Amino acid sequence: MAEETQERLEIQELLRRHPAEVAEILAALREEEAVELLRRLYLRRAAAAPLGEMDPEEAARLLAELNRDEAVQILSRMDPDDAVDLLAELPKETVQDILRRLEEREAKQLSELLSYPPDTAGGLMSPEVVALPQDMSCQEAIETLRRVAEETETVYYAYVVDEDRRLVGVLSLRDLVFARPEAPIRQVMRTDVVALPEDMDVEEVARTFDKYNFLALPVIDKEGRLLGIVTVDDVIDVIRAEDTEDMYKLAGAPLEERVDTPWWRSLRLRLPWLYLNLLTAFLAASVPAIFESTIARATALAAFMTIISGQGGNAGMQAITIVTRGMALGEVPKGKGWRILLKEVILGLLNGILVGLVVGLAAFLWKGNPWLGLVVFLAMVLNMLNAGVMGAVIPLSLRALGLDPALASSIFLTTFTDTLGFLFTLGLASLFMDKL
Ligand code: ATP
Ligand code: MG
Repeated sequence: MAEETQERLEIQELLRRHPAEVAEILAALREEEAVELLRRLYLRRAAAAPLGEMDPEEAARLLAELNRDEAVQILSRMDPDDAVDLLAELPKETVQDILRRLEEREAKQLSELLSYPPDTAGGLMSPEVVALPQDMSCQEAIETLRRVAEETETVYYAYVVDEDRRLVGVLSLRDLVFARPEAPIRQVMRTDVVALPEDMDVEEVARTFDKYNFLALPVIDKEGRLLGIVTVDDVIDVIRAEDTEDMYKLAGAPLEERVDTPWWRSLRLRLPWLYLNLLTAFLAASVPAIFESTIARATALAAFMTIISGQGGNAGMQAITIVTRGMALGEVPKGKGWRILLKEVILGLLNGILVGLVVGLAAFLWKGNPWLGLVVFLAMVLNMLNAGVMGAVIPLSLRALGLDPALASSIFLTTFTDTLGFLFTLGLASLFMDKL
């Protein structure tokens, strides 16, 4: 009894919170607890908004744990653009089953939205947009907005369409409020409308928002007909998702993992990458074995070898990070990769010389042998050059192969900087063997 009262108090407290905060709580709970809470929210008709605020993948996992009718109810109360993100994460049969159970109008709307690739403007948009006929007066337009406010994504902008639903103008709420009530909207509207083609890539969509600073942009089809609206909040989600995606992949870290992922799942996600890394590490480790006699004669080489390979790894990571980000931002047109490569070659040489001088001098002063200094210097220059070339070539060739350039670039990079770093040092050392 006391427990029940306690639960009721807790849920009332949650209902007062913003859905985004409830979403955070749901994401932080263990799965069984989250499902339990979701069910209680559902009974109070308060599950849709927080689910819409969650990461679609996590939200879909929770939704799949509810029974089908509960899931259908919740989906029908969600904004269609959020609902469709969530559906996209569910198995095909589940989606079909859910669509069959939804009201016909809703099912039609959602399956239409599902047909757009998720990484395009069409995949981001909500169809719930205000479309006004051109011959309305401003007064009528405001009344229409008031009436439809509840079921539209935003009333901030109203779009004006012709008889064929082609987009011909736009009005902000401010434009309407300040116009004479009886003025026809065609006189007030702006006709140079910025619109997103349905198949525009999300990264391009984000750039367009960044450029024009509107709170929402309309989406049109090839004939210029108004299909829906993308609001800036959806774009922020995309930018964040793409950013973390690139960051994770660069480090060869598993995408699905979050800070609160249980340790056993994290283990399963991370271990394969570490094994791959190990494989390449063996490759690097086999180099000193070949040059055993060289190392035996000049043990100082062992110390400088790790400095040279480590330095190469870091320099290469600098290049990879810049090149990958540049490609993600659309600053590296296809076919223009050689310019990037050239820059990295120059940088690798100069950095190699400047760093090599310091390390070479240190080697000379330590052992009093100028030849050791020279070997270390040359090996550093060569490996920094190698790092620059690979830092550009790895992401560029991954992209040319149609693969994601951010994909585990660092693991490939260290294979080269370690193996060749050892090879340069020991190879040069055996050339100057009798002087060391
Ligand atoms: P406030 O500045 O108070 O938010 P506002 O009316 O200035 O209100 P903005 O978002 O700044 O609204 O938009 C400025 C102008 O841009 C408005 O007159 C609006 O009609 C116009 N506008 C809105 N969307 C588009 C678009 N997609 N293409 C071209 N013009 C647009
Ligand atoms: Mg303004």
